[in-house]
Amino acid sequence: MKNFDTIAVHAGREDLMKLGVHAVPLDLSTTYPISTLDAGGVTMDRALVGDEPIGNELIYRRIANPNVQRFEQAITALETSWLVAEEGGKAEDFAGVAFASGMAAITAVLHSTVVSGLPHVVGVRPVYGTTDHVLEIGLMGTQVTWTTADAIKDEIRPDTGLVYVESPANPTMDLLDIAEVVRAAGNVPVLVDNTFATPVLQQPILQGATYVVHSATKYIGGHGDAMGGVVVTTAERAKALRQVRVGTGGLMDPLTAYLMHRGLTTIGVRVRAAQETAKVIADWLTKQPAVNKVFYPGLAEFDQENLVGPNRQMRGPGTMLAFDVAGGFSAAEKIAQSVKLITHAVSLGGVDTLIEHPASFTHRMVNPDARPHQAVLRMAIGLEHPDDLISDLAQALVAV
Ligand SMILES: *Cc1c(COP(=O)(O)O)cnc(C)c1O
Repeated sequence: MKNFDTIAVHAGREDLMKLGVHAVPLDLSTTYPISTLDAGGVTMDRALVGDEPIGNELIYRRIANPNVQRFEQAITALETSWLVAEEGGKAEDFAGVAFASGMAAITAVLHSTVVSGLPHVVGVRPVYGTTDHVLEIGLMGTQVTWTTADAIKDEIRPDTGLVYVESPANPTMDLLDIAEVVRAAGNVPVLVDNTFATPVLQQPILQGATYVVHSATKYIGGHGDAMGGVVVTTAERAKALRQVRVGTGGLMDPLTAYLMHRGLTTIGVRVRAAQETAKVIADWLTKQPAVNKVFYPGLAEFDQENLVGPNRQMRGPGTMLAFDVAGGFSAAEKIAQSVKLITHAVSLGGVDTLIEHPASFTHRMVNPDARPHQAVLRMAIGLEHPDDLISDLAQALVAV
Protein backbone atom coordinates (compact mmCIF):
# COMPACT_ATOMS: atom_id res chain seq x y z
CA MET A 1 0.00 0.00 0.00
CA LYS A 2 2.19 2.82 -1.22
CA ASN A 3 0.52 5.13 -3.71
CA PHE A 4 -1.98 7.84 -2.90
CA ASP A 5 -4.95 6.34 -4.79
CA THR A 6 -4.42 2.93 -3.20
CA ILE A 7 -4.19 4.44 0.27
CA ALA A 8 -7.36 6.45 -0.42
CA VAL A 9 -9.32 3.26 -1.12
CA HIS A 10 -7.94 1.12 1.71
CA ALA A 11 -6.90 3.35 4.63
CA GLY A 12 -9.00 2.99 7.78
CA ARG A 13 -10.38 -0.34 6.49
CA GLU A 14 -7.57 -2.70 7.47
CA ASP A 15 -9.74 -4.72 9.86
CA LEU A 16 -12.82 -5.19 7.65
CA MET A 17 -11.82 -8.63 6.38
CA LYS A 18 -11.40 -9.84 9.95
CA LEU A 19 -14.79 -8.37 10.85
CA GLY A 20 -16.33 -10.25 7.91
CA VAL A 21 -17.79 -7.13 6.30
CA HIS A 22 -16.97 -5.25 3.09
CA ALA A 23 -18.44 -1.80 3.77
CA VAL A 24 -17.43 0.12 6.89
CA PRO A 25 -19.88 -0.55 9.76
CA LEU A 26 -21.61 2.59 11.06
CA ASP A 27 -21.56 2.91 14.85
CA LEU A 28 -24.12 5.39 16.17
CA SER A 29 -23.63 4.57 19.87
CA THR A 30 -23.49 7.54 22.21
CA THR A 31 -22.32 5.33 25.07
CA TYR A 32 -20.38 2.07 25.33
CA PRO A 33 -20.45 -0.85 27.74
CA ILE A 34 -17.76 -0.57 30.41
CA SER A 35 -15.90 -3.82 31.12
CA THR A 36 -14.39 -2.92 34.51
CA LEU A 37 -14.04 0.28 36.52
CA ASP A 38 -10.29 0.07 36.11
CA ALA A 39 -10.30 -0.36 32.34
CA GLY A 40 -12.91 2.39 31.88
CA GLY A 41 -10.94 4.65 34.20
CA VAL A 42 -7.91 4.30 31.96
CA THR A 43 -9.91 5.71 29.01
CA MET A 44 -11.12 8.63 31.15
CA ASP A 45 -7.58 9.43 32.32
CA ARG A 46 -6.26 9.21 28.78
CA ALA A 47 -9.04 11.46 27.41
CA LEU A 48 -8.19 14.16 29.96
CA VAL A 49 -4.69 14.49 28.52
CA GLY A 50 -5.81 14.07 24.91
CA ASP A 51 -4.82 10.45 24.36
CA GLU A 52 -7.04 8.08 22.41
CA PRO A 53 -8.63 5.11 24.20
CA ILE A 54 -6.84 1.78 23.99
CA GLY A 55 -8.86 -1.12 22.59
CA ASN A 56 -12.64 -1.26 22.87
CA GLU A 57 -13.06 0.75 26.05
CA LEU A 58 -14.52 3.86 24.32
CA ILE A 59 -16.86 5.00 27.16
CA TYR A 60 -18.72 7.82 25.36
CA ARG A 61 -19.06 9.22 21.83
CA ARG A 62 -17.60 12.63 22.70
CA ILE A 63 -14.38 10.80 23.66
CA ALA A 64 -14.19 8.39 20.73
CA ASN A 65 -16.14 6.84 17.86
CA PRO A 66 -14.88 4.14 15.46
CA ASN A 67 -16.09 5.91 12.29
CA VAL A 68 -14.40 9.14 13.32
CA GLN A 69 -11.21 7.21 14.12
CA ARG A 70 -11.27 5.46 10.73
CA PHE A 71 -11.67 8.77 8.90
CA GLU A 72 -8.87 10.36 10.94
CA GLN A 73 -6.53 7.47 10.12
CA ALA A 74 -7.36 7.71 6.43
CA ILE A 75 -6.84 11.48 6.07
CA THR A 76 -3.60 11.24 8.07
CA ALA A 77 -2.33 8.48 5.76
CA LEU A 78 -3.19 10.64 2.73
CA GLU A 79 -1.63 13.86 4.06
CA THR A 80 1.59 11.96 4.84
CA SER A 81 1.74 9.67 1.79
CA TRP A 82 4.62 11.52 0.08
CA LEU A 83 6.46 12.07 3.35
CA VAL A 84 6.40 8.30 3.85
CA ALA A 85 7.20 7.45 0.20
CA GLU A 86 9.80 10.13 -0.49
CA GLU A 87 11.39 11.06 2.83
CA GLY A 88 11.02 7.85 4.83
CA GLY A 89 8.71 9.62 7.28
CA LYS A 90 6.23 7.74 9.46
CA ALA A 91 2.47 8.28 9.31
CA GLU A 92 2.36 7.26 13.03
CA ASP A 93 4.22 10.46 13.95
CA PHE A 94 1.10 12.38 12.84
CA ALA A 95 -2.58 12.20 13.72
CA GLY A 96 -5.87 13.57 12.45
CA VAL A 97 -8.48 15.12 14.71
CA ALA A 98 -11.93 15.57 13.16
CA PHE A 99 -14.42 18.30 14.06
CA ALA A 100 -17.98 19.38 13.32
CA SER A 101 -16.90 21.84 10.60
CA GLY A 102 -13.84 23.48 9.11
CA MET A 103 -14.31 26.45 11.44
CA ALA A 104 -14.52 24.12 14.48
CA ALA A 105 -11.18 22.62 13.37
CA ILE A 106 -9.55 26.02 12.82
CA THR A 107 -10.81 27.51 16.09
CA ALA A 108 -9.66 24.39 17.99
CA VAL A 109 -6.10 25.09 16.80
CA LEU A 110 -6.43 28.78 17.79
CA HIS A 111 -7.87 27.73 21.16
CA SER A 112 -4.92 25.39 21.81
CA THR A 113 -2.52 28.18 20.82
CA VAL A 114 -4.06 30.58 23.34
CA VAL A 115 -4.17 27.94 26.09
CA SER A 116 -0.47 27.24 25.56
CA GLY A 117 0.22 30.89 26.47
CA LEU A 118 1.21 32.02 22.97
CA PRO A 119 -1.77 34.04 21.72
CA HIS A 120 -0.06 35.97 18.91
CA VAL A 121 -0.77 34.83 15.35
CA VAL A 122 1.03 35.99 12.21
CA GLY A 123 -1.32 35.68 9.23
CA VAL A 124 -0.95 36.18 5.50
CA ARG A 125 -4.05 37.43 3.68
CA PRO A 126 -6.15 36.47 1.91
CA VAL A 127 -7.66 33.63 3.90
CA TYR A 128 -11.21 32.27 4.08
CA GLY A 129 -13.50 35.15 5.15
CA THR A 130 -14.72 33.67 8.42
CA THR A 131 -11.15 32.74 9.39
CA ASP A 132 -10.10 36.34 8.64
CA HIS A 133 -12.98 37.60 10.80
CA VAL A 134 -12.24 35.25 13.74
CA LEU A 135 -8.59 36.34 13.73
CA GLU A 136 -9.37 40.02 13.13
CA ILE A 137 -11.76 40.34 16.09
CA GLY A 138 -9.73 37.98 18.30
CA LEU A 139 -12.77 35.78 18.91
CA MET A 140 -10.65 32.95 20.36
CA GLY A 141 -8.40 35.28 22.35
CA THR A 142 -5.66 35.46 19.70
CA GLN A 143 -4.00 38.70 18.55
CA VAL A 144 -3.27 38.81 14.84
CA THR A 145 -0.61 40.62 12.84
CA TRP A 146 -1.34 40.52 9.11
CA THR A 147 1.71 40.61 6.90
CA THR A 148 3.08 39.45 3.57
CA ALA A 149 4.89 36.14 3.03
CA ASP A 150 8.32 37.80 2.74
CA ALA A 151 7.88 39.76 6.00
CA ILE A 152 6.77 36.89 8.28
CA LYS A 153 10.13 36.68 10.03
CA ASP A 154 9.98 40.35 11.12
CA GLU A 155 6.60 39.87 12.80
CA ILE A 156 7.46 36.84 14.96
CA ARG A 157 7.38 37.76 18.68
CA PRO A 158 8.19 35.76 21.82
CA ASP A 159 4.44 35.14 22.26
CA THR A 160 3.78 34.07 18.66
CA GLY A 161 2.11 30.66 18.70
CA LEU A 162 1.12 30.23 15.08
CA VAL A 163 1.77 31.35 11.51
CA TYR A 164 -1.46 31.04 9.51
CA VAL A 165 -1.54 30.71 5.70
CA GLU A 166 -3.59 29.39 2.79
CA SER A 167 -2.15 28.36 -0.56
CA PRO A 168 -3.91 28.60 -2.94
CA ALA A 169 -5.68 31.29 -0.96
CA ASN A 170 -9.42 31.84 -0.97
CA PRO A 171 -10.61 33.54 -3.19
CA THR A 172 -7.81 34.86 -5.45
CA MET A 173 -5.70 31.66 -5.59
CA ASP A 174 -2.58 33.52 -4.37
CA LEU A 175 0.23 31.01 -3.92
CA LEU A 176 3.00 31.12 -1.38
CA ASP A 177 6.09 29.01 -0.94
CA ILE A 178 5.23 26.88 2.10
CA ALA A 179 8.84 25.75 2.69
CA GLU A 180 9.88 29.44 2.73
CA VAL A 181 7.13 30.26 5.22
CA VAL A 182 8.27 27.37 7.45
CA ARG A 183 11.85 28.65 7.33
CA ALA A 184 10.74 32.21 8.15
CA ALA A 185 8.59 30.95 11.05
CA GLY A 186 11.57 29.28 12.75
CA ASN A 187 10.30 27.45 15.83
CA VAL A 188 6.76 28.73 15.44
CA PRO A 189 4.35 26.12 14.01
CA VAL A 190 2.89 26.87 10.57
CA LEU A 191 -0.75 26.10 9.79
CA VAL A 192 -1.73 25.60 6.14
CA ASP A 193 -5.41 25.52 5.19
CA ASN A 194 -5.22 22.87 2.45
CA THR A 195 -8.94 22.90 1.58
CA PHE A 196 -8.45 24.18 -1.99
CA ALA A 197 -5.49 22.01 -3.00
CA THR A 198 -6.53 18.79 -1.20
CA PRO A 199 -3.89 16.13 -0.39
CA VAL A 200 -4.24 14.93 -3.99
CA LEU A 201 -2.25 17.95 -5.16
CA GLN A 202 -0.43 19.25 -2.09
CA GLN A 203 0.69 17.78 1.23
CA PRO A 204 2.05 20.71 3.28
CA ILE A 205 3.58 18.39 5.90
CA LEU A 206 6.17 17.55 3.22
CA GLN A 207 7.21 21.24 3.24
CA GLY A 208 7.40 21.24 7.03
CA ALA A 209 3.96 22.57 8.01
CA THR A 210 2.92 21.58 11.53
CA TYR A 211 -0.86 21.84 11.07
CA VAL A 212 -2.81 20.97 7.92
CA VAL A 213 -6.45 21.99 8.10
CA HIS A 214 -9.39 21.07 5.89
CA SER A 215 -12.93 22.14 5.57
CA ALA A 216 -13.92 18.51 4.90
CA THR A 217 -17.27 19.96 3.81
CA LYS A 218 -15.60 20.62 0.47
CA TYR A 219 -13.50 18.08 -1.50
CA ILE A 220 -13.20 15.44 1.22
CA GLY A 221 -16.94 14.84 1.52
CA GLY A 222 -17.09 15.72 -2.15
CA HIS A 223 -20.84 15.72 -2.71
CA GLY A 224 -22.12 18.84 -0.95
CA ASP A 225 -24.06 16.89 1.67
CA ALA A 226 -21.82 16.53 4.73
CA MET A 227 -20.21 19.21 6.92
CA GLY A 228 -16.99 18.65 8.82
CA GLY A 229 -13.42 19.69 9.42
CA VAL A 230 -10.15 17.98 10.23
CA VAL A 231 -6.66 18.88 11.42
CA VAL A 232 -3.65 16.69 10.66
CA THR A 233 -0.71 17.49 12.92
CA THR A 234 2.04 15.88 14.98
CA ALA A 235 0.90 13.12 17.33
CA GLU A 236 1.95 15.36 20.23
CA ARG A 237 -0.01 18.44 19.13
CA ALA A 238 -3.05 16.30 18.29
CA LYS A 239 -3.47 15.71 22.02
CA ALA A 240 -4.22 19.38 22.72
CA LEU A 241 -6.81 19.33 19.92
CA ARG A 242 -8.54 16.24 21.35
CA GLN A 243 -8.65 17.97 24.73
CA VAL A 244 -10.38 20.94 23.11
CA ARG A 245 -12.80 18.61 21.31
CA VAL A 246 -13.71 16.65 24.44
CA GLY A 247 -14.16 19.92 26.34
CA THR A 248 -16.11 21.88 23.75
CA GLY A 249 -18.02 19.05 22.08
CA GLY A 250 -17.31 20.33 18.57
CA LEU A 251 -17.04 16.79 17.29
CA MET A 252 -17.77 15.13 13.97
CA ASP A 253 -20.79 12.84 14.12
CA PRO A 254 -20.40 9.19 13.03
CA LEU A 255 -22.58 9.36 9.91
CA THR A 256 -20.63 12.40 8.72
CA ALA A 257 -17.36 10.58 9.45
CA TYR A 258 -18.67 7.60 7.44
CA LEU A 259 -19.43 9.92 4.50
CA MET A 260 -16.07 11.74 4.78
CA HIS A 261 -14.23 8.42 4.87
CA ARG A 262 -16.18 7.23 1.83
CA GLY A 263 -15.52 10.56 0.09
CA LEU A 264 -11.77 10.04 0.44
CA THR A 265 -11.93 6.85 -1.65
CA THR A 266 -12.74 8.89 -4.80
CA ILE A 267 -10.95 12.16 -4.02
CA GLY A 268 -8.12 11.44 -6.48
CA VAL A 269 -10.34 10.79 -9.49
CA ARG A 270 -12.69 13.66 -8.61
CA VAL A 271 -9.99 16.27 -8.13
CA ARG A 272 -8.01 15.24 -11.23
CA ALA A 273 -11.14 15.23 -13.42
CA ALA A 274 -12.33 18.64 -12.17
CA GLN A 275 -8.80 19.98 -12.60
CA GLU A 276 -8.74 19.00 -16.30
CA THR A 277 -11.99 20.90 -16.79
CA ALA A 278 -10.74 23.87 -14.74
CA LYS A 279 -7.74 24.19 -17.08
CA VAL A 280 -10.09 24.37 -20.08
CA ILE A 281 -12.39 26.92 -18.42
CA ALA A 282 -9.50 29.10 -17.22
CA ASP A 283 -8.00 29.11 -20.70
CA TRP A 284 -11.36 29.97 -22.30
CA LEU A 285 -11.95 32.81 -19.80
CA THR A 286 -8.59 34.42 -20.65
CA LYS A 287 -9.89 34.88 -24.22
CA GLN A 288 -13.14 36.61 -23.29
CA PRO A 289 -13.32 40.40 -23.77
CA ALA A 290 -15.72 40.62 -20.78
CA VAL A 291 -12.95 39.25 -18.53
CA ASN A 292 -10.06 41.42 -17.34
CA LYS A 293 -7.97 38.85 -15.54
CA VAL A 294 -8.14 35.16 -14.63
CA PHE A 295 -6.76 33.93 -11.30
CA TYR A 296 -5.70 30.32 -11.82
CA PRO A 297 -2.48 28.62 -10.68
CA GLY A 298 -2.22 26.86 -14.06
CA LEU A 299 -1.64 30.10 -15.97
CA ALA A 300 2.07 30.78 -16.53
CA GLU A 301 1.87 34.48 -15.61
CA PHE A 302 0.09 33.57 -12.36
CA ASP A 303 2.65 31.08 -10.99
CA GLN A 304 5.64 33.43 -10.85
CA GLU A 305 7.55 31.35 -8.32
CA ASN A 306 7.11 28.10 -10.24
CA LEU A 307 5.28 26.43 -7.35
CA VAL A 308 2.93 24.37 -9.54
CA GLY A 309 3.81 21.28 -11.58
CA PRO A 310 5.00 17.68 -11.27
CA ASN A 311 6.97 17.25 -8.03
CA ARG A 312 6.52 20.93 -7.16
CA GLN A 313 4.76 22.16 -4.01
CA MET A 314 1.39 21.87 -5.78
CA ARG A 315 1.40 19.00 -8.26
CA GLY A 316 -1.33 20.48 -10.42
CA PRO A 317 -3.17 23.80 -10.73
CA GLY A 318 -6.35 22.63 -9.04
CA THR A 319 -10.06 22.96 -9.49
CA MET A 320 -10.72 26.49 -8.22
CA LEU A 321 -10.43 29.71 -10.19
CA ALA A 322 -11.53 33.32 -10.03
CA PHE A 323 -11.85 36.08 -12.60
CA ASP A 324 -12.08 39.82 -12.66
CA VAL A 325 -14.95 41.09 -14.80
CA ALA A 326 -14.31 44.06 -17.09
CA GLY A 327 -17.66 45.72 -16.32
CA GLY A 328 -17.05 45.92 -12.55
CA PHE A 329 -19.53 45.04 -9.82
CA SER A 330 -22.71 45.31 -11.88
CA ALA A 331 -21.31 43.01 -14.59
CA ALA A 332 -20.16 40.49 -11.97
CA GLU A 333 -23.62 40.62 -10.38
CA LYS A 334 -25.31 39.99 -13.75
CA ILE A 335 -23.05 37.03 -14.56
CA ALA A 336 -23.64 35.40 -11.16
CA GLN A 337 -27.39 35.81 -11.61
CA SER A 338 -27.47 34.71 -15.29
CA VAL A 339 -25.88 31.27 -15.09
CA LYS A 340 -28.36 28.40 -15.53
CA LEU A 341 -26.46 25.11 -15.38
CA ILE A 342 -23.89 26.46 -12.93
CA THR A 343 -25.34 27.18 -9.48
CA HIS A 344 -24.95 30.63 -7.93
CA ALA A 345 -23.88 29.48 -4.44
CA VAL A 346 -21.01 29.56 -1.96
CA SER A 347 -18.94 26.47 -1.10
CA LEU A 348 -16.91 24.17 -3.34
CA GLY A 349 -15.75 20.61 -3.75
CA GLY A 350 -19.05 18.99 -4.77
CA VAL A 351 -19.76 17.25 -8.08
CA ASP A 352 -21.36 20.33 -9.66
CA THR A 353 -19.95 23.72 -10.63
CA LEU A 354 -20.64 26.75 -8.42
CA ILE A 355 -20.06 30.49 -8.88
CA GLU A 356 -20.11 33.17 -6.19
CA HIS A 357 -19.21 36.80 -5.52
CA PRO A 358 -16.64 36.74 -2.66
CA ALA A 359 -17.02 40.43 -1.71
CA SER A 360 -20.75 39.83 -1.06
CA PHE A 361 -20.60 36.39 0.55
CA THR A 362 -17.52 34.39 1.56
CA HIS A 363 -15.44 37.52 2.22
CA ARG A 364 -18.16 40.04 3.12
CA MET A 365 -16.93 40.19 6.74
CA VAL A 366 -13.34 41.06 5.78
CA ASN A 367 -12.15 44.66 6.40
CA PRO A 368 -12.80 46.75 3.26
CA ASP A 369 -9.07 47.36 2.65
CA ALA A 370 -8.41 43.60 2.54
CA ARG A 371 -11.67 42.49 0.92
CA PRO A 372 -11.57 40.98 -2.61
CA HIS A 373 -12.33 43.39 -5.44
CA GLN A 374 -16.01 43.95 -6.26
CA ALA A 375 -15.47 42.73 -9.84
CA VAL A 376 -14.15 39.30 -8.81
CA LEU A 377 -16.18 36.11 -9.21
CA ARG A 378 -14.98 32.76 -7.86
CA MET A 379 -15.76 29.41 -9.46
CA ALA A 380 -15.52 25.88 -8.08
CA ILE A 381 -15.34 23.54 -11.06
CA GLY A 382 -17.30 20.29 -10.84
CA LEU A 383 -17.55 17.14 -12.91
CA GLU A 384 -19.78 18.34 -15.78
CA HIS A 385 -18.51 18.26 -19.36
CA PRO A 386 -16.44 21.41 -20.03
CA ASP A 387 -18.41 22.22 -23.22
CA ASP A 388 -21.63 22.55 -21.24
CA LEU A 389 -19.99 24.79 -18.65
CA ILE A 390 -18.55 26.99 -21.40
CA SER A 391 -21.95 27.33 -23.12
CA ASP A 392 -23.50 28.38 -19.83
CA LEU A 393 -20.73 30.89 -19.08
CA ALA A 394 -20.91 32.20 -22.67
CA GLN A 395 -24.63 32.99 -22.37
CA ALA A 396 -24.03 34.64 -18.98
CA LEU A 397 -21.16 36.77 -20.34
CA VAL A 398 -23.39 37.89 -23.23
CA ALA A 399 -25.68 39.41 -20.61
CA VAL A 400 -22.92 41.95 -19.86
C1 LIG B 1 -15.28 26.55 3.71
C2 LIG B 1 -13.91 26.86 4.16
C3 LIG B 1 -13.59 26.92 5.52
C4 LIG B 1 -14.63 26.74 6.61
O1 LIG B 1 -15.11 25.43 6.64
P1 LIG B 1 -16.59 25.05 7.15
O2 LIG B 1 -16.64 23.56 6.94
O3 LIG B 1 -17.56 25.82 6.32
O4 LIG B 1 -16.67 25.43 8.57
C5 LIG B 1 -12.27 27.16 5.87
N1 LIG B 1 -11.31 27.35 4.94
C6 LIG B 1 -11.60 27.32 3.63
C7 LIG B 1 -10.49 27.55 2.63
C8 LIG B 1 -12.89 27.08 3.18
O5 LIG B 1 -13.17 27.06 1.87
